[in-house]
Amino acid sequence: MSGIVIIGGGFAGVWSAAAAARVRGDADLNITLVAPADDMVLRPRLHRLLPEWSRVPLKRSLEPIGVAHLRAAVTEIDTEAHRVVADDRALTYDRLVMAAGSRLSRPAIPGSDLLFDIDTVEGAARLAARLHGLDGFRAVVVGSGFTGLEIATELAERGEVVLVERADAVGPDLGPGPRPVIEAALTALDVEVRLGTTLTAVDETGAHLLDGTRLPADVVIWTGGMRASQLTAQIPAERDPLGR
Ligand SMILES: Cc1cc2nc3c(=O)[nH]c(=O)nc-3n(C[C@H](O)[C@H](O)[C@H](O)COP(=O)(O)OP(=O)(O)OC[C@H]3O[C@@H](n4cnc5c(N)ncnc54)[C@H](O)[C@@H]3O)c2cc1C
Repeated sequence: MSGIVIIGGGFAGVWSAAAAARVRGDADLNITLVAPADDMVLRPRLHRLLPEWSRVPLKRSLEPIGVAHLRAAVTEIDTEAHRVVADDRALTYDRLVMAAGSRLSRPAIPGSDLLFDIDTVEGAARLAARLHGLDGFRAVVVGSGFTGLEIATELAERGEVVLVERADAVGPDLGPGPRPVIEAALTALDVEVRLGTTLTAVDETGAHLLDGTRLPADVVIWTGGMRASQLTAQIPAERDPLGR
C-alpha cells in the first residue's frame, strides 16, 4: 500500500486526513490514518474531568471522507525506505505525516507516582475518581501553562487550590499580553499562587516545595511539561529540546 500514511488520530492527524482528502478530489490515492484507539481524544476538554465527553469516534470523521483507519501503534519509521511498522505490519508510503502528539513528562522526584495528571483520558478519570465524593478538598496544581491554568480554575469552583509556578509570573509561555486577565481570574476564584518555586517531593499528605514549604493537599496535579512522541527520534532531522 502506498499513498499518504498519517500517524496519530488527534487533532493534527484528523485535520491532516481531512486536508488530504479534500485536495485528493477524484484521484486514486490511499489515505490511511494509523492510531491505536477507536476514538479521537479532545485533550483540551480533559480538565472538565468528564472523561467520556472527551472522546469522539474516529470513524465519524474518517468514514465520510474515505480515509482508512488502521487500529495499530507505529513502532518503526524508516524514512529511507518510506516504510513504517505498525503492530508488526509494514506499510509503505509516498508521504508520511507525523502527528503522534506529545505526552506529559513527569519529574524525577520522590513520590512522583502519587502525582495526578489530566494528560490522558485515564489520567483525568483517575483524578475525577479521587475527588468524587470528597466534601471539599485542597488541590496543588504544579505548572501554570494552559493546562495548569485550566485545571486550577476548574477545581477552584469546587475546592481550595494552590497554583505553583517555577517562573516569576503565571503563564510564562503565554507572554505578558493575557497575564492581567489570568491574574484577575485567579484572584476572583481565590486561587493561591506561589511563584518562583517548584515541587521537590510528594507524599500521601501533600506537596513539598523547593523553598521549604509543605503544602497539605488531597491531590497534587502535575502539568509541568511535555515531551514529543518517542517516534520522532526515528526521523533523521533536527529536534528541539522537547523532541519535536
Ligand atoms: C488538559 C489539556 C488542556 C488543553 N487545553 C488546550 C487549549 O485550551 N487550547 C489549545 O490550543 N490546546 C490545548 N491543549 C493542547 C492540545 O490538546 C494539544 O495541542 C493537541 O491535542 C495536540 O494534538 P495532536 O493531534 O498533535 O496530538 P494528540 O492529541 O496527543 O494525538 C496524538 C495521537 O497520536 C496517537 N499516537 C501516539 N503514538 C502513536 C503511535 N506510536 N502510533 C500511532 N498513533 C500514535 C495517539 O493515540 C493520538 O491519537 C490542552 C491539552 C491538555 C492535555
